[in-house]
Amino acid sequence: MISNPPPWPNNCRCAVAITFDMDADSLIHLERPDDSFKRVSTISQLRYGPEVAVSRILDTYKRLGLKQTFFIPAWCVAQYPDVIRRIIDQGHEIGHHGYLHENPLEFNRDGQAQLLDKGIEIIQQATGVAPVGYRAPLYNYTNDTTDLLIERGFEYDASLMGDDIPYILRSREKTLIELPSHWGCDDWPPFAHVPDLDYQMPVRSPSAGLSGFIEEFEAAYRWGGLFIPVWHPFVTGRLARWSAVEDWLCTLVAREDIWFAPMCEIARHIQRTWDGGTYTPRIDTLPHYKGPVS
Ligand SMILES: [Zn+2]
Repeated sequence: MISNPPPWPNNCRCAVAITFDMDADSLIHLERPDDSFKRVSTISQLRYGPEVAVSRILDTYKRLGLKQTFFIPAWCVAQYPDVIRRIIDQGHEIGHHGYLHENPLEFNRDGQAQLLDKGIEIIQQATGVAPVGYRAPLYNYTNDTTDLLIERGFEYDASLMGDDIPYILRSREKTLIELPSHWGCDDWPPFAHVPDLDYQMPVRSPSAGLSGFIEEFEAAYRWGGLFIPVWHPFVTGRLARWSAVEDWLCTLVAREDIWFAPMCEIARHIQRTWDGGTYTPRIDTLPHYKGPVS
């Protein structure tokens, strides 16, 4: 099923990085800049992430001994310093996720560079270290992103969907690790419903929504792949959903042959095995197209 599965540490069968994108209320301020401040109910829904859910998620990670990754828009890093401190103090990774969750496709190369630099500066000030991982808001990776990330010392990207396992993005003979996911592992389709963001879906029950993620995980476990859920504290961190997730995570940790790690460690593992000649990842050269396809 997977032609070239990576060798995971300690003979583990698959790698898992639960990623939480803590977008909080950046989304409504970006989408409705003129009157977002009046939309109190939507703001309450989005602020549930930093105000309530992240503590719950961190408690679960502590109980299970997990270190994981949070991608956070820099505006949220500045807005919610206490939450950021708790995430860092418990040893989790914070990755770059734009400034106010801007869509990179709406910016030219200079504009994208400015957003990246602003985010790096704010994250570095808050955490003491520059981020090494990036997920583009809305997964909107552009033809400039690879070069911009490499120039700034990023070690991996987590925006693309081109494989079931880590692969390499190459641009102008330089490379970046890609740790891919896809919409089947994203919690917006089963659980999110935010009319003020023009996103309305039938909300599934916790067990029905979680069943899709469980099937995605079991395939990764069976075939030696990588499972990267793309979750949001205000979505999957709600009480009934996270309660179900915690029960499920307990069963996974008990299996003892699953490698849970923050994204930076997975990227470094792949880089090490590639450098050491024990594994050759697939290489994808970017950009795929330099202009409109005729
Ligand atoms: Zn996001």
